[in-house]
Amino acid sequence: MTFSLSPEHEQFRAVVRDFAEHAIAPHAAEWDRAHHFPVDVVQQMGELGLMGLTAPEEYGGADGDFTSLCVAIEELGRVDQSMGITLEAAVGLGINPILTYGTEEQKQTWLPDLVAGRRLAGFGLTEPGAGSDAGATRTRAELVDGEWVVNGSKQFITNSGTEITSVVTVTARTGTRADGSAEISTIMLPAGTPGFVVEPPYDKIGWNISDTHPLSFDDARVPADHLLGERGRGYAQFLATLDDGRVAISALAVGLIQGCLDHCVTYANERQTMGGPIGRKQGVAFQIADLEVMAQASRLLTYKAAAMKDAMMAGRSVSVGEFKRAASVAKLYSSESAVTATRIATQVFGGYGFMEEYPVARLYRDAKVLEIGEGTSEVQRMLIARGLGLPVE
Ligand SMILES: Cc1cc2nc3c(=O)[nH]c(=O)nc-3n(C[C@H](O)[C@H](O)[C@H](O)COP(=O)(O)OP(=O)(O)OC[C@H]3O[C@@H](n4cnc5c(N)ncnc54)[C@H](O)[C@@H]3O)c2cc1C
Repeated sequence: MTFSLSPEHEQFRAVVRDFAEHAIAPHAAEWDRAHHFPVDVVQQMGELGLMGLTAPEEYGGADGDFTSLCVAIEELGRVDQSMGITLEAAVGLGINPILTYGTEEQKQTWLPDLVAGRRLAGFGLTEPGAGSDAGATRTRAELVDGEWVVNGSKQFITNSGTEITSVVTVTARTGTRADGSAEISTIMLPAGTPGFVVEPPYDKIGWNISDTHPLSFDDARVPADHLLGERGRGYAQFLATLDDGRVAISALAVGLIQGCLDHCVTYANERQTMGGPIGRKQGVAFQIADLEVMAQASRLLTYKAAAMKDAMMAGRSVSVGEFKRAASVAKLYSSESAVTATRIATQVFGGYGFMEEYPVARLYRDAKVLEIGEGTSEVQRMLIARGLGLPVE
């Protein structure tokens, strides 16, 4: 048993860290203030191969493992969470559903540009009345004269309205089953489809560099072959997509905790009060020691779940149930630790921690959504409890 990543993963980490330190860190505060989505830097991430890490070579990818993707998300997230979630959503919500459920024609149409990072795709599950209860989707798609006619709305959809967004895949009711429950399918809506409206971006408290919009559909028509995967399997497909996403969000949280830790160690060695650095006071040093514990524990849970995913992909025997539980455990622990880590980090920085000039202030605002996106903490607890055999609702 080993508790470290391979030398190749660590070399790859160094490459992504270098990119993040040079191409993102110096600009992140300014982009955050201006709510600016830096298309050129996102495309540079593509050129570096980050969007194509797990995609097969035939679509331009590196055929790499899921662990590498987590390393990349962690390293981007260490300097800026918005850029980390942009990569996470580009791959996990944009590329993966098409790769996993698409026809060969759909893959050939969409993947080469997405995998190269020239374009982005989004995935719309959440609606005003359907978040944790995603099965309550109200958006409808009706097959009329060989076309899907989509009506309804989605909310909080990442990467859905950038100037390089090529397609958004949405879940919609396509009928009613014999038992009266909704038949939910997944439809691909290319950007610019008449009737598909990207509403103005949200005014968020964090993730300001990342792109998030409400979407509305008013008789948006696409050909019948824009169905993604099997008719009636849309909800199941999306739930499977979310399992990977939870591990990736956990990696994003690890990056945030590591960022807090690195900033705090530097600051506590430099900042002087009462004749010495604040780091010589146990009240400060012990809080920073706690950050190290959170970073290590979150990282272990994250890469354990990532290794399970890689083992499944390689055909080794890991049960889906085991992986789902590992994904929920990692996401829950890492995201809640991340929120705590930013509270500690801003405290270590004192008044400066409350100033936007210091990265820990941005990390503080960015952390909260980790406990919400891709399944809230309560949903993770519910899934973990169910996995333990508890009769929780
Ligand atoms: C910045 C951002 C980006 C996002 N990007 C995307 C995206 O790209 N695609 C997408 O589809 N969605 C996206 N989301 C949506 C996100 O996944 C949902 O916000 C999340 O799943 C919660 O749903 P909700 O907001 O409707 O909250 P609700 O489901 O209304 O939950 C409200 C509260 O009630 C609790 N709760 C609800 N049901 C239960 C229950 N059964 N038991 C216990 N507690 C419960 C929740 O945990 C929460 O605390 C994004 C959200 C944000 C904020």
